[in-house]
Formats: sequence, C-alpha cells, structure tokens
Amino acid sequence: MPGPRPSESVVVGPNGRIVSLSAAWFSDGARRRAEARRAGRCVECGRDLPHHRSPYCSRKCQWKFHGHYFWDSARTYVLLRDRYTCQICHGRRRARQLDVDHIVEIAAGGAALEYSNLQTVCRDCHRLKTQNFMRERRTLDEIPSPDRPGLHITS
Ligand SMILES: [Zn+2]
Ligand SMILES: [Zn+2]
Repeated sequence: MPGPRPSESVVVGPNGRIVSLSAAWFSDGARRRAEARRAGRCVECGRDLPHHRSPYCSRKCQWKFHGHYFWDSARTYVLLRDRYTCQICHGRRRARQLDVDHIVEIAAGGAALEYSNLQTVCRDCHRLKTQNFMRERRTLDEIPSPDRPGLHITS
C-alpha cells in the first residue's frame, strides 16, 4: 500500500534528515487507521486483526505503517527487515552502529520514506558511500552545462 507522496508530506533538512511532516499523518493516516479498525483488517498488511482496538496486526506492521510518515519508524522497520545487517559489506552490527541509508540520495531525487529506497548500512560503509557521492557531485558540477554563463554554443 503506497504511503503519501514524499514531495507533499515530507520536509527534508539540508543534511538529508527528515525534519517534519505535513498533516498527512493526521488526515490520510487517521482515515486509513479508522477504516482498518472498522474492517477488522491490519492497515499495513490486510491480515485479520486479533481485536479492534488497534489497526495493526503486529508491532512490525505498526512500525512499517508509521514509517510511511515518520523517519524514526521507517528506520526501525528497515533495521528489522534487514536483520541488523549492513547491505553493503553484509556485516551484522548493533543498532547503534548502523545507519539507514537512502539508496538513491535525497539530493539526487531519491524518495525519502520509500522502503524500496532504504537500506541498512554500517557506519564505515555509509561514510565511504557518502564520500563517493560528494565526489561524484563535485565532478558533475565541474562539467559546464549549456545554461551556465561562460559557455557559448555556436551552431
Ligand atoms: Zn499486519
Ligand atoms: Zn558495511
């Protein structure tokens, strides 16, 4: 089930962290949770609910659903999904030694809260990946583009 479109609901800080969300959680999220409780089906996976007090069948679905709206929950869910294993070097670490990384950086147009764009990485791999990204960006910036002043195209 797709979450809200990131561009509408997510505000991303200059360092790539998600700093705040719009009212999506309170409008779209609340409506979907209420409907799920009424239908007796988990709002995330659609399985039958054990009781109607909660719209989630499990803690995992709770984190997963929250994660469509909130970074901290998305992070918790991705760590669980990836079994606390770095997806680059495949080393298993403790949660505090792991980061959740955007496979396609937000600065390059990657979706901020899309599970398919999130992966667990260890601190070392994350640092290397970020360094490479910054280096590539600098290289791209040095290539003159037609709409930049100083480059004249004659035809
Ligand atoms: Zn569920
Ligand atoms: Zn690693």
